[in-house]
Amino acid sequence: MTTKPRIVVLSAPSGGGKTTIARAVRERNPDRFGFSVSATTRKPRAGEREGVDYHFLPRSRFLEAVGASEFLEYAEYGGELYGTLKREVEKVQQSGQHVLLDIEVDGARQVRHQYPPPGSISIFILPSDPQVLLARLQSRKSESIEQIRWRIDRAEYELQQSTLFDRWVRNDDLETAVAEVVAIAEDTSGRSRDRKDFEWITSYGRGLQAAAQRLYDDKQKG
Ligand code: ADP
Ligand code: 5GP
Repeated sequence: MTTKPRIVVLSAPSGGGKTTIARAVRERNPDRFGFSVSATTRKPRAGEREGVDYHFLPRSRFLEAVGASEFLEYAEYGGELYGTLKREVEKVQQSGQHVLLDIEVDGARQVRHQYPPPGSISIFILPSDPQVLLARLQSRKSESIEQIRWRIDRAEYELQQSTLFDRWVRNDDLETAVAEVVAIAEDTSGRSRDRKDFEWITSYGRGLQAAAQRLYDDKQKG
């Protein structure tokens, strides 16, 4: 038996792996999952394509769309606006697939409000080790050191918000994480959060700050 299609919200601190996992989930299950392409006011990064990675909009056009109620949710992140377009979600829903959203935590809360579980399910993604999170964020080489700093500070807030999510997935081995996200979406995953997971999340912020401090110290020396 297959689960009724629903909205699958993936959130993570920057570098957590939500973009990679969302892409892999779709590639492995193209008939079951569709992706909603978000709108943003930020500039495209090298290799990003209009209508594929994002709909890149000038701020004035984005605000017009807000006024016209075109968004299911929207939020500001790093000084830029990001939003999920209702028409993108409806397009995927009409094809009978789960709708994958790769969005930050404030938007995730808005979606949950409008589609309470089981209409949506929210998944927070993180590598087990904060040092790995930092290494992955840096290895992508798409942000300046100032932007990395901001994203690490923001991770603290995101970790606090993560308790509002339905599930946490450890992104260590990619294939395992992808399989878990699919199982959660399809409601075939037996596992839920336990005390060990709570202890892990509670200490994560401290581990991340310590790893970040080492990074800043190294930058100052180098
Ligand atoms: P996010 O979208 O959450 O900011 P990305 O999906 O861009 O994160 O992942 C950050 C970096 O980590 C990317 O360079 C990606 O290739 C890498 N990455 C993601 N998941 C894994 C994994 N399980 N193992 C190794 N590298 C990973
Ligand atoms: P990036 O600039 O790295 O692509 O994305 C920055 C943050 O914005 C990420 O946390 C990403 O998940 C989030 N984001 C992308 N699209 C949306 C969206 O439509 N709505 C919200 N609320 N956040 C989004």
